Amino acid sequence: MQTPIPISLYDLTREQLIRQLAEWGEPAFRARQIWHWLYQRLAGSIDEMTDLPRSLRDRLQQAYALSRMTVMAEQHSSDGWTRKWLFRLADGSEIETVLMEYDGLRRTACVSSQAGCAMGCSFCATGQMGFLRNLRSGEIVEQAVWVARALRAKANGHERLSNLVLMGMGEPFANYNNVMEAVHRLMTPESAGGFGLGARKITISTVGIVPGIRRFAEEAAQINLAVSLHAATDALRDQLVPINRRYPLHELVAATRDYLRKTNRRVSYEWALIDGVNDTVEQAKALVELVRETNAKAGVNLVHVNMIPLNPTGGYAGHASRRAHIQQFRDVLTRAGIPNTLRVRRGIDISAGCGQLKAEKMPARAAPEKQASG
Ligand code: SAH
Ligand code: SF4
Repeated sequence: MQTPIPISLYDLTREQLIRQLAEWGEPAFRARQIWHWLYQRLAGSIDEMTDLPRSLRDRLQQAYALSRMTVMAEQHSSDGWTRKWLFRLADGSEIETVLMEYDGLRRTACVSSQAGCAMGCSFCATGQMGFLRNLRSGEIVEQAVWVARALRAKANGHERLSNLVLMGMGEPFANYNNVMEAVHRLMTPESAGGFGLGARKITISTVGIVPGIRRFAEEAAQINLAVSLHAATDALRDQLVPINRRYPLHELVAATRDYLRKTNRRVSYEWALIDGVNDTVEQAKALVELVRETNAKAGVNLVHVNMIPLNPTGGYAGHASRRAHIQQFRDVLTRAGIPNTLRVRRGIDISAGCGQLKAEKMPARAAPEKQASG
C-alpha cells in the first residue's frame, strides 16, 4: 500500500487558500499574511506564523502540512559553489535538488519535477534508475523555498535565489500541469506577498515532448525553454534519447520552430558532448542544418546551442569529449553563425552535475515511454 501524501500549504494556489479561509469564516487578509509567511518569510513551521490567531494556526496544522521533505543528506562540492540535497518525501520516495552559485548575484536552484524519470536516456543517471512518480506542484515549490532558505541562512538574509531551472530529476513536460502550477506560484509578485521570481529567470528543459512544447508555446509567461537534443540524426538520437522514436527530429524541430514563431523568444538546444558518439564533424554539420530549419525567420538566430561535456554516470560507458574535438565541433557551429556556449561542469565531485541526479531507493526501471503524455 502506498503511503498517502499529506496536502501542504505549498500545494495551494492563492485562490484555493482564499477559498479555504472563506470556508472557515476567516477574513480575506489572512491569505496575504499566510502567503507572506510561506514565500517571503520562508517559515519553517505553521507555528512560526505568529500574527495569525492561535485558533487559525491550529486549524491549519490539522488540515495541512508545511514541508513534507526530510533532508537525508547535504553535500558541498570542493569548488565551494555547488550544494546538493537528497530529500525523502512523505511517501518514502527520494529526490535531489542542487544550488549553484556564481560570481555576482546569480544563485540558481536546479529542481526535480519527478521522482525518477521514465524517458530512459542512456547517459543520464535519472533515466538509468527508472520512474517512480510525478511530484506535486507543492513539492516542486518546496525545493525552491528550501534553497532560498539555505541562502538566507548562509548570508544573514543577504543572498536570494535569483534563478530556477527545471533540470533536476524527471521530465517536466511529462508532469506538465504540476510544473506550470509550481512556476506560476513562484512567480507571484513580491508586492502580493509572493516569492517574486521573474519568468525570464526560469528555464524549463525538456527531452523533446512535442505536445508539451506546443502547449508551452501557448503560455503567456516569458519562461525560457531548453530542448535536450544531443543528436542531429534520428539513427543516433533513437539510441541516446529513446523518446525520439515517438517524437522524431522533424516533429521536434517543427514544434520548436512554431514555438519560436509564436513567442519570438530564444531557445537553447542542449548537447552533452560524448567522445566519439555525437562530437563528430558530421553531427555538427547535421546540427547546423537542424538549427537552420528551426530558426523561424531567415537571418534571425533564435536558437542557441548549449554544450556540456558529458558528466560520468554509473550506467553508461561513454566519456566526455576530448578538448580538440569540442573545439572542432564548436568551430563548425561558429562558422555557420550559430551562437553557442560551452557550459562549465559543476559539482561533479558530489554527482550534482547535469544528468547525475539519482536516489538510492528506486524501483526497477520502467518502460521508457510510459510517462510520455504531453
Ligand atoms: N528531463 C529534462 C530535464 C532534466 S535533465 C531533459 O532531459 O531536458 C537536464 C539536462 O541534463 C538535460 O539537458 C539532459 O540531457 C542533461 N544530461 C543528462 N545526463 C547528462 C550527462 N550525463 N551529462 C551531461 N548532461 C546530461
Ligand atoms: Fe529523463 Fe532528462 Fe534524464 Fe532523459 S535526460 S532520462 S528526460 S531526466
